[in-house]
Amino acid sequence: MATIRTVCAHDCPDMCSLLAHVEDGRIVRIQGDPDHPFTAGFACGKVNRDMDLVYSPERLTTPLRRIGPKGSGSFEPITWEQALNEIVARWSGIIAESGPEAILGYAYSAHQGQINRGLTNGLFHALGTSRLLGGTVCDSCADAAWEATVGPIGGADPESVVESDLVISWGSDLHATNVHLWAKIEQARKRGVKLVAIDPRRTRTARAADFYLPIRIGTDSALALGVMHILVRDGLADRAYLAAHTLGFDQVERDVLPRFTPERTAEITGLPVADIERFAAMYGAARKSFMRIGFGMSRYVHGGQNLRTVALLPGVTGAYGRYGGGAIVATAASFDLNYNAVRKPSGPAVARTVNHLKLGEALLAAGDAPIRALFIAANNPAVTNPDTGKIRAGLAREDLFTVVHDPFMTATARYADIVLPAATYLETEDFYRSYGTYYMQYGQRVVAPLGEAWSNLRLTQTLAARMGVADPVFSMTPPEIMKELFRGADVKADPKTLLNGVAVSIAGRSGQQFRTPSGKLEFYSQALADQGLPPMPDWVAEPVAAYPLRLLTTPGYFQSHTAFSGVAFLREREGVPYAVLHPEDAASRGLTDGQAVRLHNGLGQVSLRLRVRDEVQPGVVLVPGQRPDEEAAGGTVNMLCADGYTDMGAGATYQSTWLEVSAARSIG
Ligand code: SF4
Repeated sequence: MATIRTVCAHDCPDMCSLLAHVEDGRIVRIQGDPDHPFTAGFACGKVNRDMDLVYSPERLTTPLRRIGPKGSGSFEPITWEQALNEIVARWSGIIAESGPEAILGYAYSAHQGQINRGLTNGLFHALGTSRLLGGTVCDSCADAAWEATVGPIGGADPESVVESDLVISWGSDLHATNVHLWAKIEQARKRGVKLVAIDPRRTRTARAADFYLPIRIGTDSALALGVMHILVRDGLADRAYLAAHTLGFDQVERDVLPRFTPERTAEITGLPVADIERFAAMYGAARKSFMRIGFGMSRYVHGGQNLRTVALLPGVTGAYGRYGGGAIVATAASFDLNYNAVRKPSGPAVARTVNHLKLGEALLAAGDAPIRALFIAANNPAVTNPDTGKIRAGLAREDLFTVVHDPFMTATARYADIVLPAATYLETEDFYRSYGTYYMQYGQRVVAPLGEAWSNLRLTQTLAARMGVADPVFSMTPPEIMKELFRGADVKADPKTLLNGVAVSIAGRSGQQFRTPSGKLEFYSQALADQGLPPMPDWVAEPVAAYPLRLLTTPGYFQSHTAFSGVAFLREREGVPYAVLHPEDAASRGLTDGQAVRLHNGLGQVSLRLRVRDEVQPGVVLVPGQRPDEEAAGGTVNMLCADGYTDMGAGATYQSTWLEVSAARSIG
């Protein structure tokens, strides 16, 4: 039996090092790699089962051509040669007639490898096609808010949490989305360090915390300002740190904080005054408070302001200045690699961009320059985008030539003209850098791709050759491409060490650096003012909604992405798709636990099974996981989410969705 070290490529901040055991060319077991300092010998309950992902009977093994109506899922097998000939002929014809911007092509986050994903995007950049403004369905708002506050740099090193003296999980269900950070926090807790969880849902993390604050959705900035108010009132602000490392706190102290008394903060957040006081006292007493901030708080109309305000809090106590303290949202910005070598090898400097969350609108846009061809790899926008009804209407356009490269027949692939079987990450090699730690690692291919599946890289390089794209990177091997990423980059690492599979960290032990225009933590941001946004942190109420209940979507424990929906065991572990209502809301609607319900608003409706639990507060409907159509009657919950923008970063506003829940006759 051979043991091969590789890296988990799922969209997850942990980026585990894995050991895959192979017998007779087949993976028989996957385990965490004990030699990795952070992921330390265990993989999560989803990826322990990734043999089932590779050998799923639902895997696509040959190219397919559509023979039925779009969306019907009727296809016939064709050869790779037929598929490639058709793609190249159609793309070449469209470019000749309408120019390259009539094509939109991209790879997204279901394969986190910098080579497979990066070079696919590089092909479309080189062809001069329309470009996807990616990340807007995920982290663009959080990134913009963090950048305006701290700068384009990662936050606290998650490995430093073992040295902290207070841990705050703010809007982050670590049990579902960051299990290795959870393990490090447990080490700190063994020393008596307390864990505070702030979350609108009583998650597993919240249940295990020492102190849980069930905050109202979208009021995180108010709580952060209320805590700052108390810190100032009680003389717990670190004045020396504020003077040396921050900008504009005096204005915030004068103009904003007086409005966030504990009483008003309680009114806004729904938290008792005593709990706000207790949390502020704990925070003020800590020297090295470590805060993990979740992305969810940024996915609503004032999401940027929300996250930015929370990210300012460690500046008041000086926690940013101490190893073990500070805050982390993500780390990716610290990997200053030569990404352009892969993602932008050639092509025009400027081309039409399409915001990812507006993909439906872009596909439906009438006018002189419609998108005539679409290529999608590693993404399932027909389920994961907001306003998925609009996406599906766009994908259903008969005159749109769509190619999808995926290991499975996703809801998006059902609308494609050509579906190409993609290799999973265990069948590809790639270079990875984490977005939740400071590690980089090279992952080896474990087994040959199943059937006729191809990696994104192989497809990209083949299409580049046939489309006449001659940049050398399209002829390089993966190790050669990885070296290009380090050419002239600030990040120093020995490629030989990486190619041996060793995980390399770029973390240091200094406190948080700030890469804002002032070089300081910016309580006052001129960059935001210049964009017409409030330069100082604040909380403002959302407009009155037309429906009484607010949607809260969270990752499922076993179905955190639709990428896991090809594994029957994980679907069963997650259970039937469900919505959770507080007992008061269920009773007032005459609804009972276990019955079929309809979630509906002006955009659509979806039927789910009801769970009546007090894990959410009154006024909230919780829907965990993104489930495919076959499992949730009427489509996906994201059909109910509008495709409006957040205040910063042009991101999606999933958590600003209002709706009603009513009885349904049945599901399906
Ligand atoms: S915790 Fe994340 S990185 Fe680790 S195995 Fe699971 S999905 Fe992959």
